[in-house]
Amino acid sequence: MQTAGVIAVQGDVAEHAAAIRRAAADHSESCEVETIRTAGTVPECDLLLVPGGESTTISRLLEREGIGEEIVEFVADGKPMLATCAGLIVASRDAKDDRVRTLDVLDVSVDRNAFGRQKDSFEAALDVEGLDAPFPAVFIRAPTIDEVGSGVDVLATVEGRPVAVRQDNVFATSFHPELTEDSRVHELAFFG
Ligand code: GLN
Repeated sequence: MQTAGVIAVQGDVAEHAAAIRRAAADHSESCEVETIRTAGTVPECDLLLVPGGESTTISRLLEREGIGEEIVEFVADGKPMLATCAGLIVASRDAKDDRVRTLDVLDVSVDRNAFGRQKDSFEAALDVEGLDAPFPAVFIRAPTIDEVGSGVDVLATVEGRPVAVRQDNVFATSFHPELTEDSRVHELAFFG
């Protein structure tokens, strides 16, 4: 039995928990899911998910509650983490916005809301390296990645811009993989 933690200061916590359980079941594993709002739980988890929301708010709460430093240690221990949308922004090295205290566990810099107003939200059938059929990716005021460190693999792009990346045990998407029934991204990040 593995323990998955979902950071629950904001975002689609229940949807991510369901996707993790489906992904585990597809691998004949069972997984209990802990929702995390305070320090102390992250170190007990085997897998960790940082959902979307508003990166300014999430990063402030992670810092205030002392969860941010636990996430940094979690990643340094080599355990798998999936960060989505605002989670990706928080995980990054640089969000070019002083209000976001990035954790610097993923060697990328991001542009918040990079797709602009006209493309605020959209869905795309996305080719993701490691998946054998396109993924129904939902983008909501999504960031893009504009600089990628040498240890980071780009797994998917939109208009030439990276939207899914992996650096060792850290997997990140600028879209919301929890919003469809398709749990292959959770599977790839945690059990792939
Ligand atoms: N635009 C948000 C931010 O900058 C992210 C949006 C999301 O997580 N869907 O934090």
